[in-house]
Amino acid sequence: MTENAKPVLRFAPSPTGMLHIGGARTALFNWLYARHSGGKFLLRIEDTDRERSTPQAVAAILNGMRWMGLDWDGDEIYQFARAARHREVAEQLLAKGRAYRCYATPEELTEMREAQKRESKPLRYDGRWRNRDPKEAPPGAPFAVRLKAEDSGETIVHDLVLGDVRFANDTLDDMVLLRSDGTPTYMLAVVVDDHDMGVTHVIRGADHLNNAARQLQIITAMGWPIPAYGHLPLINGPDGAKLSKRHGALAVEAYRDMGYLSETMRNYLLRLGWSHGDEEIISTAQAIEWFNFESMGKSAARMDFKKLDNLNGHYIRSTSDDVLVAEITAFLERQTPPRILSDKARRRLLTAMPALKERAKTVVELIQSAEFLFTDGIRDLDEAAAKLLTPEARATLTATLPVLEATDWSGAALEAAARAHAEATGLKLGQVAQPLRAALTGKGISPPLFEMLALLGREESLVRLRAYAG
Ligand code: GLU
Repeated sequence: MTENAKPVLRFAPSPTGMLHIGGARTALFNWLYARHSGGKFLLRIEDTDRERSTPQAVAAILNGMRWMGLDWDGDEIYQFARAARHREVAEQLLAKGRAYRCYATPEELTEMREAQKRESKPLRYDGRWRNRDPKEAPPGAPFAVRLKAEDSGETIVHDLVLGDVRFANDTLDDMVLLRSDGTPTYMLAVVVDDHDMGVTHVIRGADHLNNAARQLQIITAMGWPIPAYGHLPLINGPDGAKLSKRHGALAVEAYRDMGYLSETMRNYLLRLGWSHGDEEIISTAQAIEWFNFESMGKSAARMDFKKLDNLNGHYIRSTSDDVLVAEITAFLERQTPPRILSDKARRRLLTAMPALKERAKTVVELIQSAEFLFTDGIRDLDEAAAKLLTPEARATLTATLPVLEATDWSGAALEAAARAHAEATGLKLGQVAQPLRAALTGKGISPPLFEMLALLGREESLVRLRAYAG
């Protein structure tokens, strides 16, 4: 990287499945650094594995990125489309004498590995064509192109997260760059693409650390500038074991569907492996300002769902009411079949939101607590409401009805009337209010009752209340 050049970062997922949270965290860190430094954040879809890459997975990754709010600069780049360029670089390495043709047949290579196994030697290509004259190969025989790797000394990965990691070169064999069918390997494609895209920082999961040593050898052989590397420690499940399907949700979409906000996910994933003093709540704007590689954790991070819930509660409370209504609307529209809220329901939701959002930890909980606002008509009772509506409570409800019917339908007037009625009949306000709440909302708890009566209006409220009187 030259002195004044802006950093270029990239996220390079293989489209073989959803965007899982490990990948989302990698994307987030790259994005944060790009936005922090005024550099670029590029997206490269590594679809070279034709058997395992699917258009559905590409779509899932793009959607996951969009939902996470991780916008990339320019169009996404598809690796498979660049295969000709990858081959060209392999040819250049051949021409420079930094790669060679290997005519070993698959059978021969299997035999070589079997022998290594028998002798308990490490399994690696033994360089049998490294110094052999290609003329010795049978005419027209298929060949792979292999890198002529350094065979002594060491390769050092100067890692932003892990520090210097050393690899003895005699443990790195002459890897294949082009297979005998002419297709480039992943190892070659990554290096060529990163170079051509001007990538200055390669930030990715620690599972790629060994690849970095191999990729460095290709970079050096080409005489290209070496990017900065940062390998992020893995994310473990709550039990400390490597995060896997067993731990439930892995795809970011699953978190969306459980009702987490994307701002919560950004904050949560940031804290999985990065810290700024004791700060737990770090808004995205603040994260962009603070982000650096020095504060990365070296050890594996552990998922903590309780923390995630608390964080989400915080972001729900601090999100504006209209944005939350939009979140809920979108959430319901994603259901199968989609649920479409009427304008009336949306207006009610907006009015009730300041009260609703105080209690909810997830969008799902928000929806559950707002359900009584979405449609008109008599409510089904949840367990708590059914328990509240004893014959006695119903009698109280019946006696309260005429009082409400005679009242001006505003929150304050309804509350005053209910209080006066409670006093006159020797009841506590709660004894009058709870049956009303149960009938009005179908629930044992709700936002402030008198406000909700006013919000639903005289006619609609009375329909609901009368249904459980008697
Ligand atoms: N395509 C690789 C993966 O999905 C990432 C390669 C890289 O970041 O260099 O794991």
